[in-house]
Amino acid sequence: MGEGMPVRHRHWIGGRPDDPAGGAYLPTTDPSTRLPGDEIAAGSAADVDRAVAAAASAQPSWAGWSGADRAEVLHRVADAIEAGAGGLMEVERACTGKTEGQLRMEIGMSAGYFRYYAGVLRAHHGRTIDLGAGNHAYTRLEPYGVVAAITPWNLPLNQACRALAPALAAGNAVVAKPSEFTSVSTLSLARLAGGAGLPAGLLNVVTGTGPDAGTPLAAHPAVRRVTFTGSVATGRHLARIAAGRLIPLTLELGGKSPLVVFADADIDGAVAAAVSAVAFNAGQVCSATTRLLVEAPAHDAVVGRVVEAVERLRPGADFGPMITEAQFRKVLDHFDDAKRQGAVPVTGGSAYDGGPEARGRFVRPTVYARVPPDLRIAREEVFGPVLVTMPFADEAEALALANDTDYGLVGAVWSGDAARGLRLAERIDAGQVSVNGGALGIETPFGGFKSSGYGREKGVEALHEYAQVKTVSLSLRP
Ligand code: NAD
Repeated sequence: MGEGMPVRHRHWIGGRPDDPAGGAYLPTTDPSTRLPGDEIAAGSAADVDRAVAAAASAQPSWAGWSGADRAEVLHRVADAIEAGAGGLMEVERACTGKTEGQLRMEIGMSAGYFRYYAGVLRAHHGRTIDLGAGNHAYTRLEPYGVVAAITPWNLPLNQACRALAPALAAGNAVVAKPSEFTSVSTLSLARLAGGAGLPAGLLNVVTGTGPDAGTPLAAHPAVRRVTFTGSVATGRHLARIAAGRLIPLTLELGGKSPLVVFADADIDGAVAAAVSAVAFNAGQVCSATTRLLVEAPAHDAVVGRVVEAVERLRPGADFGPMITEAQFRKVLDHFDDAKRQGAVPVTGGSAYDGGPEARGRFVRPTVYARVPPDLRIAREEVFGPVLVTMPFADEAEALALANDTDYGLVGAVWSGDAARGLRLAERIDAGQVSVNGGALGIETPFGGFKSSGYGREKGVEALHEYAQVKTVSLSLRP
């Protein structure tokens, strides 16, 4: 990478590297330097056909394994991710520019999904249903068969494992189509999983663009379920394909999530949460709480502390660059647009114009204070290190502002009055709401209300998403 010939990565199909039918490869770039990186196979419908065929032929045998045996393999995949963490971090760094701490956390989570589903899958069973004398009925949780997983560039390996681990645990085979900007870690995962004993054909990776590889994958007649993480526009497109085929779909889309802070809150904790919405993956996180709503008497003091803290964040050490050129341009376009609408940032509002950061796609941490709620910057997901703030007068106004969005992924409330925190948590329209920094983990189901999507990843809920219920009944009459 960076010097000499770029490394070329082929698809991973049926347990081994596989050449793209069209013979073409796509370039990747290191977002920290804009230097060229590895190349990935440019997938097409013909490649998708081979991958789906490999998955369909491997899946029935896997579905016949006992849960205990499948769990054993998934634990070994987790071990392999942990043992290969250094290499995975390096390939992920090369195409995302993420900080070391961020990479370590994501690789740890990636292994964690396999461990968690290896565990819960052993308690994943149907139930018996008593219909009275002379009858016996029970349910079975059966896999769909071949699942397509189409994933984005922001947390590449983490998003892939979040979908693949429960899909495989439930007895499916998977064809993954990672983002064309960040495919290498998913290819590495498939290789590691094969080495750890996952039978060939259960995890296939076809790389390439959305239209050339993603669309034919979702449309393939042997794909029985789709899981997608990405933008609302692509989610709608895939939902149309799934509707035409009458197959189920999980959609994890964007967000513009509120962080509500009352004057009686633990202000240190609330400020740290706001700073983390900017710093964590440079705001390229669907669950980032990027609308900071503060009770009016505390607004200026809280925002002042947040501004001070984000100005101390160091590019490269505390936060990374925008991962794609399109995303970099999109954030700058939001800044231009906000300016045209009369919004002046308290801090930031531009890319770096000198030093090593200017070679990469680094954007300054940015805060727009007291933003009118109808401004584009206050309504649309920026997906960058950008906060908007608004004061509110009371609980009713806090709730109205929190829910004044098309999205509904996450909410956060900070208050010294825990009952008030819970009152708001129950009335914010979002798939998950934390009070006073409550943690969310692999155990907690994750997904959207409203335009943030439907279906749930994580938790036992995800395992149920990847299984279909069959009822079997038997007459006991002689
Ligand atoms: P995207 O929708 O452009 O791409 C996501 C994936 O879909 C990629 O693999 C891409 O190749 C594929 N794709 C694109 N067009 C396609 C098409 N026409 N047919 C089939 N596949 C297609 O999104 P992105 O830019 O990669 O990611 C950013 C967006 O994802 C943000 O809006 C963010 O909020 C959202 N996101 C959501 C979550 C979540 O869990 N809810 C997580 C990460 C990102």
